[in-house]
Amino acid sequence: MTELLSNYLAGRWQNGTGVGAELYDPVLGNELVRVDATGLDLAAGFDYARRQGGQSLRAMTYRERGVMLSAVGKVLQAHRDTYYEISTANSGTVKNDTAVDVDGAIYTLGTYAKLGESLGDRRFLLDGEAVRLGKDPLFQSQHVLTPTRGIALFINAFNFPAWGLWEKAAPALLSGVPVIVKPATATAWLTQRMVKDVVDAGVLPAGALSVVCGSPSGLLDALQPFDVLSFTGSADTAEKIRAHNVVARNSVRVNIEADSVNSALLLPGEAHDSPAFELFVKEVVREMTVKSGQKCTAIRRVFVPEVLYDAAAQAISAKLAKTTVGNPRNEAVRMGALVNRSQLASVREGLASLSTQADVLFDGSKAALVDADPSVACCVGPTLFGTRNTDNSVIHRTEVFGPVATLLPYKETSQGLNLVRRGEGSLVVSIYGSDHPSLGQAALELADSHGRVHVVSPDVAQLHTGHGNVMPQSLHGGPGRAGGGEELGGQRAMNFYHRRSAIQASTAVLGSL
Ligand code: NAP
Repeated sequence: MTELLSNYLAGRWQNGTGVGAELYDPVLGNELVRVDATGLDLAAGFDYARRQGGQSLRAMTYRERGVMLSAVGKVLQAHRDTYYEISTANSGTVKNDTAVDVDGAIYTLGTYAKLGESLGDRRFLLDGEAVRLGKDPLFQSQHVLTPTRGIALFINAFNFPAWGLWEKAAPALLSGVPVIVKPATATAWLTQRMVKDVVDAGVLPAGALSVVCGSPSGLLDALQPFDVLSFTGSADTAEKIRAHNVVARNSVRVNIEADSVNSALLLPGEAHDSPAFELFVKEVVREMTVKSGQKCTAIRRVFVPEVLYDAAAQAISAKLAKTTVGNPRNEAVRMGALVNRSQLASVREGLASLSTQADVLFDGSKAALVDADPSVACCVGPTLFGTRNTDNSVIHRTEVFGPVATLLPYKETSQGLNLVRRGEGSLVVSIYGSDHPSLGQAALELADSHGRVHVVSPDVAQLHTGHGNVMPQSLHGGPGRAGGGEELGGQRAMNFYHRRSAIQASTAVLGSL
């Protein structure tokens, strides 16, 4: 049997008492490690984190916690090669895709470490100015933000085992709130190893960071009123979490990052050989193929003025044809695998469903794999669909979590914007063009239905950070279907881990805070 990974809870390493779930190499098919959480005393572990971890973290200032995050980043940097190896083996990703996860995690930690320094030697945050409550200015109301005295439970998706942990843990720990992470079973290894390295390095106070690998059973039952829960995953699981009786009864604060049918929109007025058109095509192809399309932010719907439909189909297809797919250990491979057989089956199901609604403009799904056995490897080449029937609601609703997108033409800008909104709330939309006022206007029109609007014009061709890259400085999360969550956005992320309270008192008392 393969190694059973330990859970770190209540300040000690604990093995589950069950046989455990196997994690696999999605390219070679071999078993890697097992995870199991059977029999863990979750209530005691959560309590330990609340008391021990919470107390120690709250005793530190933001500046001290920033220094602590910086130390975590250094630990991860020192073990970076191991993380790349685990990611190749367990997620089947090529180096560039692993970088998005692992280096993205380290960069995010560094950003929050710097923020801690700028917040200084304080243990709470002021929220706005004091305001007088009557005629006499002596008695005023000052809103403050203080760290919640609970734990932050993270239930994460399989596609970002590294970044998914640290993009949440950085603002939580900086806020003074202990973290318990439950990674998705399929890729729990990398998360578990990162926690192990950080725990072994002794750079965090006891109880500040715990990891539970395996079944999520019982996790939500252990939550209490001051705990917060941050979930990333499918809309179906999100629905169950929202409806959970303990979450509802204890008013547990919940952040949901769910699936999203994101868009790219090329504005009218661009020729097929214009710089804006080329930037648009490049970004669509990149988004379809990075991490084999297993990114919550990936472009799923591609909108072009109808005169450019054929040109866009050709240009995107020509680039997709160059995507080599297969074993990420082979230098010639640009796109690795899906995470496991169940995701492969789900992508194939999605392809079958979309093919009844749209034409196949580029079919890479049957392309030969490089250095990989197609009967074993969970690899699939990219597919571009297209349809002029833009009213089709299946297209606007279906997230195929793989290298798949659909090209859609529009007549006028207003129709294009309305079609983008048919996603019913997305994480990100990118807009392409060269007329700055039109780009700005379109961005504002789409802002209410998207957590992030990424605008690409030729003047930022070399500068823009990419449609799908989640930068810690910008908000991540979207309304409606995307889950209604908010993460990152610099200091904004810390609101989730703080409680807002109004202190009504004499100006002398307020001045003493
Ligand atoms: P998933 O099946 O919903 O699983 C997500 C997490 O929830 C896993 O850790 C899973 O544990 C756990 N879980 C499953 N059932 C649960 C329950 N009843 N109660 C509590 N936890 C439960 O999603 P996934 O397949 O890992 O991820 C793919 C989806 O995530 C895609 O739709 C993608 O769009 C979305 N996603 C969104 C974002 C975002 O930021 N918006 C980011 C990444 C991914 P097990 O693995 O042990 O079952």
